[in-house]
Amino acid sequence: MVISKKHLGQHFLFDKNIALKIVNSLKNNNKYPVLEIGPGKGILTDYLIKCFDDLYLIEIDTESVSFLNEKYPENLFNLINADFLKLDLQETLKNNEFCIIGNLPYNISSQIFFKILDNKKYIPEVVCMIQKEVAERIFSKHGTKSYGILSVLIQLFYKTEYLFTVNETVFTPRPKVKSGVIRLERYRNTIPGIDEKELLGIVKTAFNQRRKVLRNSLKNIIPEDIITENQAVFKLRPEQLSPEDFVDLVRLTK
Ligand code: SAM
Repeated sequence: MVISKKHLGQHFLFDKNIALKIVNSLKNNNKYPVLEIGPGKGILTDYLIKCFDDLYLIEIDTESVSFLNEKYPENLFNLINADFLKLDLQETLKNNEFCIIGNLPYNISSQIFFKILDNKKYIPEVVCMIQKEVAERIFSKHGTKSYGILSVLIQLFYKTEYLFTVNETVFTPRPKVKSGVIRLERYRNTIPGIDEKELLGIVKTAFNQRRKVLRNSLKNIIPEDIITENQAVFKLRPEQLSPEDFVDLVRLTK
């Protein structure tokens, strides 16, 4: 038996129709290996093993890992007892491209997305269930309140799609909030002429002081002459810039 652990974000889905709908949302047609984050008691895994030959499960909870090993005695997947955030993905997947699926632990979903962005060269597609509010942040357009760091960075590299909402009632224990299932499909790996570390630094610094105009929030990381020569853009607040506007801003510093 697996007793749910709050600190690991364990809310187990028990609705099989929803599990199937999530697995069917992956467009990957066995072209790439699939990595499931946090299989728990395996409700998504039940369907993943039917669809994918090359499957990796990364689960931090030793009790869930023992449960899965007993549930599936046949070697149908590579089950790794590890923290996804600390795992060396390139070594685990032998530098192959792979897709990610999961009902994510909500307490670390933002960190998971930053790790996905760091490894985007290897990750063409992601289907996952997250807190509805985080899903909305990822899709937010500029000019809205929920638009932020993740919206800018994910939209620059992935086509984002909100697939459906999932109610609290289909989990045990019940979460306090609704969930959303989303799909990300990578449309580019890199942006020519852009230093991604610089982009990340500018986006994070700007949104960490989101009420300030860029002239004030970025004055320590962008030379004064560039700010003076481009006053119009530096008079704006970060939520007024689209993801591509941030790219143009980084280009100004070249
Ligand atoms: N997939 C199962 C389901 O849909 O019922 C469980 C989902 S539950 C919301 C999140 C799962 O992620 C749990 O099994 C939890 O133990 C696991 N988990 C939490 N933190 C993790 C981490 N850092 N690395 C890998 N797995 C993690």
